[in-house]
Amino acid sequence: MARRHLIIGGGTAGMNAIRTIREEETERSTITLVSAEKPYSRMVLPYYLDRSIAESHVFTATARVLADWGVATHLGKRATALDTKANVCTLDDGTAVEYDDCLIATGSSAVRAPVPGADGPGVHSFWTLDQARGVLAQIQPGRHVVMVGAGFIAFTILNSILSLGAKLTIVEVAPRILPRMIDDTGAGLVQGWLEKNGVAVRTGAKLTRIDEAKGRRRLKMAAGGDLTADVVIMATGIRTNLAWLNGSEVKINQGIVVDDHLRSSVPNVYAAGDVAEGRDLISQTNAVHAIEPTAQEHGRVVGANMAGKDVGYRGSLIINLVEVCHLDVASFGAWDDAKAETASGVKADRPAYRKLLWRGDRLTGAIILGPSSDIWTTNDVGMLKGLVQSGVSLGPWKAHLKKNPFDIKPAFIATKTTSSLLPETILGRPSKAPGESPVAV
Ligand SMILES: Cc1cc2nc3c(=O)[nH]c(=O)nc-3n(C[C@H](O)[C@H](O)[C@H](O)COP(=O)(O)OP(=O)(O)OC[C@H]3O[C@@H](n4cnc5c(N)ncnc54)[C@H](O)[C@@H]3O)c2cc1C
Repeated sequence: MARRHLIIGGGTAGMNAIRTIREEETERSTITLVSAEKPYSRMVLPYYLDRSIAESHVFTATARVLADWGVATHLGKRATALDTKANVCTLDDGTAVEYDDCLIATGSSAVRAPVPGADGPGVHSFWTLDQARGVLAQIQPGRHVVMVGAGFIAFTILNSILSLGAKLTIVEVAPRILPRMIDDTGAGLVQGWLEKNGVAVRTGAKLTRIDEAKGRRRLKMAAGGDLTADVVIMATGIRTNLAWLNGSEVKINQGIVVDDHLRSSVPNVYAAGDVAEGRDLISQTNAVHAIEPTAQEHGRVVGANMAGKDVGYRGSLIINLVEVCHLDVASFGAWDDAKAETASGVKADRPAYRKLLWRGDRLTGAIILGPSSDIWTTNDVGMLKGLVQSGVSLGPWKAHLKKNPFDIKPAFIATKTTSSLLPETILGRPSKAPGESPVAV
């Protein structure tokens, strides 16, 4: 059994792996963590931005916690090369770390639109704590923020920007907002809702350059109608942090290709989280899911396997969930499967929307949106996710849902979805209480 574990990356996947190794191992092993940043959760940065949590609350493990776990650390250091024959990882300060097995969990970085001026002053990404500090220092009441990109990450910080009293304009090159999260109908409803709440939205809008304009930024748009902003946030996508592995034996496609034990093409090298191209729960093919639940689950599974257990992974479910100006918007699973059987319903005045997708009598994807204050919406979000995740056979309830896509609850109860989900934990054993560790189970 591996005695020396090396974890590269101290984000969600890496920290869940460390914790799980300590929970599952039968003999105490050596764990070394190499991470460019101190361990923190990117997902809570929007709450740091709107000042609802202090900066200290974004961290997932303090130096004290890591010491209690017996983890040797190289924080603020980057891995620059992996020699999978010699089992040695080299760091940017020249340190060589030997390992018996290693986990690559280096996550992703924000990518800016490739236009002149994108790296100039007043233009920010919002992916790391440092970048969040930069944005926080710039946003003040009455300032005009232009967000370039209307994808999931842009939507996670939209409420925070508004709550700081800024004016917000969103520009998106695609013909609709949230292009990789919801369909045209859903996007139209969300856009109308945003506009009602004072957010200006421009779709099909191509940014060509950003210039300085008397201390402000001028955003030149291909179709005219240039914008002037105090703060520009580029939410234009992410790229996996894998360039440092160039020339290694580890097979990389969209991400590091892993098997159902999250092992890469090199048997003692594992990958987890945003960098891993692992199994998708619905399609059972490999995909990169750069989302928090996948990073958590990967971390748990990989940690157990590194500790000597034999845990196979069923696959991760795509879960996109945001709340904007008190409207919940979510999609699950294969929500954009063009070959699936579908049913949908719209209540434009609320607004509320459901789209359900089936393969056979199993729900394989769903889109849902509606006011957060509507208790039924809130319940339906969880129940739809449960139906897709469990893959229960709907039997006669399929016809009911096709006719009544807003009436989820009876189908959820009748198909005993809760009891099919409850005994199921990622590690195939009863859940453990999280104890004193701040890392999510
Ligand atoms: C603002 C924001 C909001 C988000 N909201 C949500 C949400 O609501 N729901 C959701 O599902 N997802 C959300 N996400 C995405 C989610 O945070 C990521 O999917 C998740 O953090 C991935 O975890 P990870 O462990 O794979 O990578 P990360 O958490 O990115 O951790 C990677 C770690 O590796 C380190 N690293 C990178 N390169 C190297 C190197 N060469 N050597 C050593 N260390 C290195 C990094 O410094 C970092 O510590 C959000 C992200 C952001 C930025």
